Amino acid sequence: MSRYTGSVCRLCRRENLKLYLKGDRCYSDKCAFDRRSYPPGQHGQRRGGKVSDYGQQLREKQKVKRSYCLSEKQFKLSFEKADRKKGITGINLLTILEQRLDNVVYRLGFSNSRPQARQLVRHGHFLVNGKKVDIPSYQIKAGDVIEIREKSRTMQVIIDSLEAVVRRSMPQWLELEKENFKGMIKAVPVREDITMPIQENQIVELYSR
Ligand code: SF4
Repeated sequence: MSRYTGSVCRLCRRENLKLYLKGDRCYSDKCAFDRRSYPPGQHGQRRGGKVSDYGQQLREKQKVKRSYCLSEKQFKLSFEKADRKKGITGINLLTILEQRLDNVVYRLGFSNSRPQARQLVRHGHFLVNGKKVDIPSYQIKAGDVIEIREKSRTMQVIIDSLEAVVRRSMPQWLELEKENFKGMIKAVPVREDITMPIQENQIVELYSR
C-alpha cells in the first residue's frame, strides 16, 4: 500500500490547517505551520484566486484523509462503508474515522500523534475489553474499555504522551483513567464532537461525480 513519505509539515501547510502529525513539535514554536502558514512550494506565497468546485471538494477530502493519516484506498473503503450505513453519508464517514482504534488511542493521550498511535496499535500494546487488538481500523463501541498492556506501561513514549495529555482537551465521549492506563468509551462520537473544520458534504459530492 502506498504511503506518503515526504515532510508531513508540508501537508499542514497545504491544507492550511494544523493536522498535528508530529507530536510534541506541533505544540512548540518549531511548528512549520505556525512559522510559515502559506502553501509549500516555489509559488506557495503567490497562490490564490478562484478555486473550482472540484478543487474545493478535493481539498476537503485531502484534509480529512491526511488528518487521519489514511491512504487513498483506506479512505475510499471508509467512505464506502459510510455510504452503506443508514443516515447521512458525510457524518457517517466522520464518525467511522473517529471510532478507529488508532484515533481513540491518540484522543485518549496514549500517543502524541495519530501516526504514533497507529504504530503502537500495530505492535500490540493495547487491550480492548481485555483482549489484545492490533488492528488500527478496529471500530470501538460505546462501553468499550481500552487499556495499555501491563508490560507496555513503562514505555517512554507512552509515559511522555500521558504526561502531555493536559495540553489537549479530552472529547466528552471519552474518559481517561490515567493512573490505571485505561480509557472508557462513554458514547460513540456524534458530529458535534468532531471540531476540525470540515465540510463533509463536499467529500460526498466529490465521490458522487
Ligand atoms: Fe503540522 Fe505538527 Fe508540522 Fe506543525 S509541527 S506543521 S502541526 S505536523
